[in-house]
Amino acid sequence: ARESLIPATEKRETKMPAIANILTLEQEKNPWEAQAARFDLAARKLNLDNGIWKVLRMPTRELIVHIPVAMDDGSIEVFTGYRVQHSIARGPGKGGIRYAPDVSLDEVRALASWMTWKCAVVNIPFGGAKGGIICDPKHMSQGELERMTRRYTAAIIDFIGPEKDVPAPDMNTNEQTMAWIMDTYSMHMGQTVTAVVTGKPVNIGGSRGRREATGRGISVVCDQALKHLGMDIAGTRVIIQGFGNVGSNAAHLLYKKGYTITGIAEYDGGLYNADGIDIPALIEHRAKAGTINGFAKAEAADKAELLTRECEILIPAATENVITSQNAADLRCKILCEGANGPTTIVADDILEDKRVFVIPDILANAGGVTASYFEWVQDRMGYFWTEAEVNQRLDAIMTESFTDVVSYATSHKVNNRIAAYMLAIDRVAYTTKQRGMYA
Ligand code: GLU
Repeated sequence: ARESLIPATEKRETKMPAIANILTLEQEKNPWEAQAARFDLAARKLNLDNGIWKVLRMPTRELIVHIPVAMDDGSIEVFTGYRVQHSIARGPGKGGIRYAPDVSLDEVRALASWMTWKCAVVNIPFGGAKGGIICDPKHMSQGELERMTRRYTAAIIDFIGPEKDVPAPDMNTNEQTMAWIMDTYSMHMGQTVTAVVTGKPVNIGGSRGRREATGRGISVVCDQALKHLGMDIAGTRVIIQGFGNVGSNAAHLLYKKGYTITGIAEYDGGLYNADGIDIPALIEHRAKAGTINGFAKAEAADKAELLTRECEILIPAATENVITSQNAADLRCKILCEGANGPTTIVADDILEDKRVFVIPDILANAGGVTASYFEWVQDRMGYFWTEAEVNQRLDAIMTESFTDVVSYATSHKVNNRIAAYMLAIDRVAYTTKQRGMYA
């Protein structure tokens, strides 16, 4: 077990200038430390019972597997994979599986904890979990990805299930990946078990609207933030980092609502158009070209510099640690809407608070995905499927209500939105944990 940089017993206020001064950039960018620091801060504010504090601080279970996979060239490769279940207090573990070269146990356990808080913020009956495999999916064939996915599923099979832990897509995994996991699990069980994963293709137990749900949730909280701050959609400029499932769907939905998407930053380049980028045309271009680069109706822009251009809403929708001590002071947005998990470091939090940026924290902003996953799980277990309009209407209602809950909590407890979201979530999980009592 690793200790946080910040002892749980230390008395602190909501800001951490002292911590900011002693952290190296590498420590600042450790997602587990980032999660733990916010947890400690919120727990302190809540006067959380010391025992419950210790229970909720660490994940319940951490599984490490080393999985052999036959590669296309006849060689055998061994991949390291993780599945971390942070909490199962409020229901089965829930959370995605990501494939990336820089996946680490600290990252997966942070992401698992964030899932616990996220599910609690939107008040759905799940705990939190996350999985990952260290691999380079961009350089693997479909066959290699399928064999790796199936072997990983077999390695964690005793720990997942509709009532235990329900995986979903995350970075570099998609509906096809979920179909393979569902099939592998089902082969072992001797029956088709669709509710073991969410984010599946619609024809095999997936939910209508799930694919767009994270982006849709982002658009709903942006609408609510504008309303709260007395701003109009007309003239609201948005810059988005990431054009994967989350970024592209957020861009498309915001575009359809009348927002002006002035910038898109991707891992391989950026685009800018002061009059707004035609998002449907960009989606078409990307489908053909395989990249956003070379799009005629916008100028090329530096992907890092784009984050600091003037706009009303900045949406990081790619990965962790993109807003840090190195660039937070340079941001020129009024609203930061976190589509990614953990895009902002704890040091950047303080800088943004000083700059009075209105932050819609990740555990609220990107919760539309897991909320639609909840709907998918419910539909699979009922065997009765809803229309897209029903899914969207329920999703909009939960996202709107959760936004109001967090912002009201922030106002009444005089904390920023992020700490309010953590406090709300921790309070709900702590309540259930206490109510269930300790099994001994
Ligand atoms: N990977 C998504 C997230 O980080 C979705 C998880 C899920 O649907 O279970 O929220």
